[in-house]
Amino acid sequence: MRYISTRGQAPILAFDDVLLAGLAEDGGLYVPERWPRLSSEELRALRGRPYPEIAARILDLFADGTIAPAVLARLTADAYAGFGHSGTAPLVQLDPRFWLMELFHGPTLAFKDYALQLVGRLFDHVLAARGSRITVVGATSGDTGSAAIEAVRDREAIDIFILFPRGRVSDVQRRQMTTVSASNVHTIAIDGTFDDCQDLVKAMFGDRPFREALNLSAVNSINFARIAGQVVYYVTAALALGAPERAVSFSVPTGNFGNIYAAYAARQMGLPIERLIVGANSNDILHRFFATGEMAVQPVVPTVSPAMDIQISSNFERFLFDLLDRDPAALAGTMQAFRRDGRFAVPEALAARAGGAFLSGRVDEEETLATIARTWRETGQLLDPHTAVGLAAGRRAAPAAPEPPVISLACAHPAKFGDAVRRAVGFDPPIPERLAAVFRDPERVAELPADLATVEDYIRRRARIAGGHA
Ligand SMILES: *Cc1c(COP(=O)(O)O)cnc(C)c1O
Repeated sequence: MRYISTRGQAPILAFDDVLLAGLAEDGGLYVPERWPRLSSEELRALRGRPYPEIAARILDLFADGTIAPAVLARLTADAYAGFGHSGTAPLVQLDPRFWLMELFHGPTLAFKDYALQLVGRLFDHVLAARGSRITVVGATSGDTGSAAIEAVRDREAIDIFILFPRGRVSDVQRRQMTTVSASNVHTIAIDGTFDDCQDLVKAMFGDRPFREALNLSAVNSINFARIAGQVVYYVTAALALGAPERAVSFSVPTGNFGNIYAAYAARQMGLPIERLIVGANSNDILHRFFATGEMAVQPVVPTVSPAMDIQISSNFERFLFDLLDRDPAALAGTMQAFRRDGRFAVPEALAARAGGAFLSGRVDEEETLATIARTWRETGQLLDPHTAVGLAAGRRAAPAAPEPPVISLACAHPAKFGDAVRRAVGFDPPIPERLAAVFRDPERVAELPADLATVEDYIRRRARIAGGHA
């Protein structure tokens, strides 16, 4: 299987090269030239199998021989071995039609672990096979840093350095990063703001001798391998509720469009999915697009679901590529106009087609908290605010029975967003053992000024690729 760039000007690559490349060199995103097929027989054969085994099979469809099936089986078994629930991504019934899929049993208690735990191991395997190593540097204002750290901790061929603004991330967020004891993980508290951290990372990538000496790599949210890793839980959930004989619908809280795009991919591969429902918070650019066919940037407003406080959804380009009949020139032109004007519109026929592929709903702060409160009252389940946005959008968008069941994605553990949950139900959500551990374990963190030479020197001395380890 070959992967092409949405903008048509980058080399066509195999899966292992796409994994290492991340973004295509023409600025586009890699997508499979053709979607692999999940036949009904194949789906029936997967029914009832353990999560890691289904993951290995799905990844094999995408990797297509570039990574041996036996290696995939070993990496997926290892990736999910440490999850806190033996079902990995269990379903919980809320009412006769609605289900929750719990995606918070990984090390950082949010859904990104499901793909990243696997992607870290895929990276390590491919790098080791090629005899190379990389140094990951990234800036974080909160959650991405810990998910990336957990993904690459203890990996042989990768060192990771995460910069965060000292005193400006929450205690939980800081401790989730600084209590990781792996020797290839380095956290740096910068005396400055998140923007200072991001500027330092950009400057390191701009410093060519430094970038090349350390083989710098980014923590990439647009890597296709993450999409492949996310297809897995859509398959396991649909199988559990009767696929391929019965269809299901999914409702997904959406920011960068990465999670729900994987559901779209699963549907393109043949998984029987009736409706895909996009849940947007007050930053509702995607909802407005699906309602009107126009994408128009507005200022970002802070909400109780901060992982969705985004205006430009990087993975949307992949869906737009399909909507434009995979015409790379039309796609590149549209993205150029979007960057220039902060808006673009598609013709009515295409808007109708987009609306046929996705339903959407906008859920404001009040409705988010009310959904947490109502779900607690009616079912005894505590939702995190992102999950509540998805569920509320799903309830509004999905017509009544006898339509297929709706699976709403629970994207983070409620304890990660305890303040919002307390506002909704009047008490703090119980802290799971995994999170309690970060309050016991000792912190390891360097404190450095927002000075490029100082930070580069610090990294150079510690990255194994540069012969550090004084
Ligand atoms: C990242 C994240 C989202 C948004 O997911 P996308 O793939 O960016 O759409 C929603 N909820 C939580 C808890 C997240 O961490």
